[in-house]
This record gives sequence, C-alpha cells and structure tokens, in this order.
Amino acid sequence: MPGLNFFGGFKQAIKQVAEPRVTTEYPKQKRPKPPRLHGRHVLNRYEDGMEKCIGCELCAAVCPADCIYVRGADNPEDAPVSPGERYGFVYEINYLRCIHCDMCVEACPTEAITESKMFEFSFTSRADAIYTKAELLVDDEGRPRRLPWEDWREGEDANTSAWMRATSPAGSAAYEGEVQWSGELGYGVRAPEGGQSNKRDDEATGNISLRETLANKIPSRFGGKVR
Ligand code: SF4
Ligand code: SF4
Repeated sequence: MPGLNFFGGFKQAIKQVAEPRVTTEYPKQKRPKPPRLHGRHVLNRYEDGMEKCIGCELCAAVCPADCIYVRGADNPEDAPVSPGERYGFVYEINYLRCIHCDMCVEACPTEAITESKMFEFSFTSRADAIYTKAELLVDDEGRPRRLPWEDWREGEDANTSAWMRATSPAGSAAYEGEVQWSGELGYGVRAPEGGQSNKRDDEATGNISLRETLANKIPSRFGGKVR
C-alpha cells in the first residue's frame, strides 16, 4: 500500500541516524589514499644523490597526452649528474594535459619518474601548470618539493617508488614480495609490494587487499560497514 511505503521511508532514515558517519570534512581532513594512487610526479635520485633520469626520452615517447618534454645531455666527466652516459638536462610535464595514466612510470628504465599521492594542486596561470625539473626533482633530503599551491599531507610521499608500476617482470608470481627497485635518496630501499602470497608485508607498505576490505577488517576506513 502507498501509505505504508511512506512510513517505510522514515524507518530507513531513522535507522541511518544510528549508523557511524562516513562524511569527511574535505579538504580540512583527507581520507587515507590507496597505495597505488597516481598523483603529482617526482623525479627520483639514488641514495648517493645522483639523479636516476638518464634523459632517454622513453617517458615522453609513450605519453598518450604528449605532455612530457625531455632533452638529454652528456654527463660532464668531472661532475656527472647521473650514473649513465647522459642525464635529463631538460624535463617538463604539462599538467594541463596529464591524465595520470602512469604510462611514463611504466616505460622508465631507471624508475626515475614516479608519482606521489598528492593530487590537490591547481594553478592560476598556464606557466605554473608546466612543472620543470626544478619542481619535479626531489630535494637534497630526497623529499618532493612542496610548492605554494600544493596541499601536501603526511604520507603522501609514501611509496612513490617503482611501487607505482602495474606490471612485474614476466608477470610471474615468483616475484611477489621481492624488491624490484633501487634505493632512493632519503628513503633507502622501499619495502616490496604486496601480492597474493604470504611474502607480503602490508604493515610496511600500507597495502590493503580487497579480500581484507570485504572481510570488514578495517572499520575505521569504511565506517564499520562493508558497503
Ligand atoms: S601520467 Fe600519463 S599522461 Fe601523465 S605524463 Fe605520464 S604518461 Fe603522460
Ligand atoms: S624519466 Fe625515465 S624514461 Fe623519462 S627520460 Fe628519464 S630515464 Fe628516460
């Protein structure tokens, strides 16, 4: 009957009053981000401070949005910038074009370009939207440079390493839990990525499996309910 349906609606609303709130006061408060989220890029350095980029331009070639511009140059013999013959002399990403697909990260042979978890940034001019090496290269502590128009929070520089890659060599399960990337300035060698096996270290990596999510083991993230 239509009348009963009307009161049935109230019943549902009253039931929801007792449910835990899931609303977050964004941007005052940010919810934890997934480990693989694609945010603003960083250009990484080795633990000794040398730049990982060798100026090969593979990232620029693979970018579907045509937003990367790279020019390599020969390393000065007396003061090499990277361990290779060449280094990234010019490196630019145009964020008016970038779709954060991470194809550049997949293509990079030295894990030089990866993405952070920070995506809260905007610009008032086209020039600001083009990040150059001065903005992208991590600082002398190995941390991403925090620009005035960016909203960085704790942990958004976590797992920027080859973590961001979708693939593993040969796709073999034998590589699960194995570190497949070099160390980084300021972070050392980051923990291996989790997988399906018991070699995963979720505490170190912050990884949360779908299985766990559905098993409702993380009530703080989902308001105590599987939705
Ligand atoms: S994330 Fe995708 S669109 Fe953005 S720079 Fe990399 S390849 Fe290009
Ligand atoms: S970021 Fe990687 S792919 Fe791009 S030019 Fe440098 S080394 Fe080559």
